[in-house]
Amino acid sequence: MKCPHCGHDQSRVLDTRESGDGIRRRRLCANCDERFTTYEQVSTAVHIVKSDGRREPFDRTKLLNGIRIACAKRPIAMAELERIADQIEEHIHGSGKAEVPSKVIGNMILDRLRTIDPVAYIRFATIYLELPDLEAVQQEINRLVGHS
Ligand SMILES: [Zn+2]
Repeated sequence: MKCPHCGHDQSRVLDTRESGDGIRRRRLCANCDERFTTYEQVSTAVHIVKSDGRREPFDRTKLLNGIRIACAKRPIAMAELERIADQIEEHIHGSGKAEVPSKVIGNMILDRLRTIDPVAYIRFATIYLELPDLEAVQQEINRLVGHS
């Protein structure tokens, strides 16, 4: 996504919103600090394939909500969560695939939470990995603190 002002190819997404059949993004150029707008068509909607085989369209809001629940009341800035959602969204749309397993997305979230906030990581892992009991949670914690 090149900046129309200076041609630089790194920009930061300031704002993302649905507009008609596309997604409109406000971007800030990392080089010249000019703002510009890009549109993405969602005609090539990416579907998420769940572990039980069900498919549903990728939904950034839903993704962000899932991360937010895991991070509730943790000292993590909303901007940080937005960044995780952005990275995952970019990965998904950049992959060029029509379908992405939910496992891939879950693992990407886990990867990021692991380094950002261990408590949020454990919360997300408990739900996402469907840890069945305390022992499984304990094992995950051990793995996290490197005792296993
Ligand atoms: Zn620029």
